Amino acid sequence: MQVPLLDLKAQYAGLATEIQTAIAGVCASQAFILGPAVKALEAAVASYSQCRRGVGVSSGTDALLLALMALGIGPGDAVITSPFTFFATAGTIARTGARPLFCDIEPDTFNLSPRAVEAFLAERCERRGSDLIERATGARVRALMPVHLYGQLADMRSLMASAQRHGLKVLEDAAQAIGAEDAARKRAGSFGDIGCLSFFPTKNLGAFGDAGMCVANDAALAEHMEILRVHGGKPKYYHQFIGGNFRIDELQAAVLNVKLPHLDAWSAARQRNAAFYDAAFERAGTAANVATPRTVPGARHIYNQYVIRAQRRDELRAHLAAAGVGTEIYYPVPLHLQKCFAYLGHKEGDFPESERAARETLALPIYPELTEAQLEYVVAAIRDFYRR
Ligand SMILES: *Cc1c(COP(=O)(O)O)cnc(C)c1O
Repeated sequence: MQVPLLDLKAQYAGLATEIQTAIAGVCASQAFILGPAVKALEAAVASYSQCRRGVGVSSGTDALLLALMALGIGPGDAVITSPFTFFATAGTIARTGARPLFCDIEPDTFNLSPRAVEAFLAERCERRGSDLIERATGARVRALMPVHLYGQLADMRSLMASAQRHGLKVLEDAAQAIGAEDAARKRAGSFGDIGCLSFFPTKNLGAFGDAGMCVANDAALAEHMEILRVHGGKPKYYHQFIGGNFRIDELQAAVLNVKLPHLDAWSAARQRNAAFYDAAFERAGTAANVATPRTVPGARHIYNQYVIRAQRRDELRAHLAAAGVGTEIYYPVPLHLQKCFAYLGHKEGDFPESERAARETLALPIYPELTEAQLEYVVAAIRDFYRR
């Protein structure tokens, strides 16, 4: 049996006619830039994410960059985030000229630890006038950028309280978490000043290429992002700001408009698969070697990834590959140990939970169209590995 990490063909098969019609509509209109499909998608995704406004952009990475730019973050500033995430989270902070400040994660959810953030703010930062300064570097701490990793919300109640106490802006990296909710049914992207979504093909709502969106409740901030998205010119060719070309493509928006109504069913299927895995691992008696993911009680985890902690992770991965099971390591090197961030001066041991997660985690196939036989096969292959 083959169980790929992700197979997008099954999803496309069910929607091919509708998607081709939508693409043909854009071709017929020849309206490729910020046309009606983009407008419709922005309204629908904003509403889905419990926000007033959506600004469609060219990728999740550009959503993060645009959000940071819109909040005026740049040289001399610093932004607190997690070292256990996709590169773009800290990469975009650095690209604005600001400094990424890392705080460690919670071992059970892999998300930014509110206690680590609070300790960092209390012990390593101080007020100077209206600024909050990191003592070691003199950088102005301006914002908090939590990541809702694997499709589960970070502890936003605690993080928002810290941000409010210290006067920080909040940017949510919700690239993996569209529609994820806390126990009070509040959705990813609706907590902070700006939520950043990705429609990269592997995300729960995937485009046919790169695309993303910023969601926000503040109309003035959304309008500022709309201006920065077109090089900061308003009216056209009159530039009060330096922006970029961050536009979402009309063709991508047309595809996403067809897919969005199916998103809840897809996320529900991922949850069913996750529950199936949980029960199958329980039956297989692998608890000594495999820790299944923890879902915060009452919350809605959308399982963009189903990530286990595994003993002898790399050997297990090779065993699964030989058995025809696709897996991935998200992420093998925590960001504080990436070469490009050597200038931040970190060393191994600085963020032990992030480093342990990088050593132990393995993402298993979780996409909606998997059959129970495939899920059963994955668990049996893992059980067999530890029985050998
Ligand atoms: C996918 C992802 C991004 C970047 O999105 P792209 O659309 O690939 O640019 C940013 N942050 C996280 C956590 C992601 O998973």
